[in-house]
Amino acid sequence: MRSCSDMQFHTAAKLRIYPSSEQKKIISVNDGASRFVYNRLTANDRDLHAMKKVVGSCPAYLERIAYLEQVRTSKRELVNTIPFLNCEDVDSLSVDNAIRNHNRAWKQFREDPGTGIPGFHKKGYAQTYQTNAHYKADALTWEDGNVRFIWRSSNEKIPHYIQLPKIGAIRFRCSPEVRNLLLTHRNDTRIGTITISRDNCGDYYAVLQMSSDSPFFEPLPRTGKRVGIDMNLTSLYMDSDGNSAENIRVGRNAKKKLAKAQRKLSRMAVGAKKEGRSLYESSNYQKQRLRTAKIQRQVSSAREDYLQVQTKRLVESQDLIVSEDLKVKNLMKNHCLAFSISDVSWSRFFTLLGQKAVSYGKTYIKVPAKNTTQTCSCCGHVMAGDETIPLGVEEWVCPACGTHHVRDHNAAINILERGMALISCG
Ligand SMILES: [Zn+2]
Repeated sequence: MRSCSDMQFHTAAKLRIYPSSEQKKIISVNDGASRFVYNRLTANDRDLHAMKKVVGSCPAYLERIAYLEQVRTSKRELVNTIPFLNCEDVDSLSVDNAIRNHNRAWKQFREDPGTGIPGFHKKGYAQTYQTNAHYKADALTWEDGNVRFIWRSSNEKIPHYIQLPKIGAIRFRCSPEVRNLLLTHRNDTRIGTITISRDNCGDYYAVLQMSSDSPFFEPLPRTGKRVGIDMNLTSLYMDSDGNSAENIRVGRNAKKKLAKAQRKLSRMAVGAKKEGRSLYESSNYQKQRLRTAKIQRQVSSAREDYLQVQTKRLVESQDLIVSEDLKVKNLMKNHCLAFSISDVSWSRFFTLLGQKAVSYGKTYIKVPAKNTTQTCSCCGHVMAGDETIPLGVEEWVCPACGTHHVRDHNAAINILERGMALISCG
């Protein structure tokens, strides 16, 4: 079977899994092992990075640099010398994935130092590690690999167990769409990386990355329509046809409730510390921590659901979608807007839109955001200097051609035009 990276189509399937206490222990051990490896290598490379900045020639200094370099170039050897990483419950692939994630983080940092030096992974209530599916050379479907469904009896219509590396057979549940995706046996589908995790609420999940040579989804019918979308904070976006999608502000609506729960939690933490109890042992603290985590999860899943629905609606109704290429990270530096921007979650919206457009055979492109608001979509006049339209002005009249504009609608039309120009240039 070919490797995932050689295949053209990729998707992921998320399963809720129900581990036994023995399996929970294995997940916890692997989470610890991969975090240990990642942090050990990060500490090494951070030291090396700091030492290389300083010029020194004393023998101890040079020796230390040589040692750090040696660890950096022979990571796997270092891992082999640590006894607990070679114990029975540790999945060697979780260690390999930790090394790979470490390499990826440092590669990104070297290519773009603006992303910041890679930091350490903190131990928390959430757990996560990655492993991989394996196939023999003559494997035909993904069911021939070490990750496969287990049918407990012949009259079972749908499988309830999945075989995972190290963990073994584990009960799972998923949405009907995901089950369909998994049950459609296609010869050329294979599973790549598997991410096993526990969230802050204590629920376990497995995300399977799948690759194939044939598309996972049927392309949606062409509608002959195209649209430009202007992102804003009053609504989620306004399109070039004048329609807008609501900004549901889930985070802002839950802010008070969450803040109250967090205050209570920190009071309990202070109380436990005074009495000399550890937080893991204080049951009231743990109960409150769970309540807080559940509020946070409610907020993020409501947001995710809404974005999924909105992006699906866009790719269903349009053949071409054009948006601005917003530097969300830079916009977040404005602390007055940071909460609203993270609440509306533009980055996730763009990511989903891109994924859905590829999956369903539609086109999604981003165009430079410069002056999309300040340009008249009728005559092309660019408002500058004293004419600049300030934030908060929703309607304006073009001084050159006299057209009356609704701010976001005008910007959306400009965005669509830029997108079409980009496409016609190839
Ligand atoms: Zn004009």
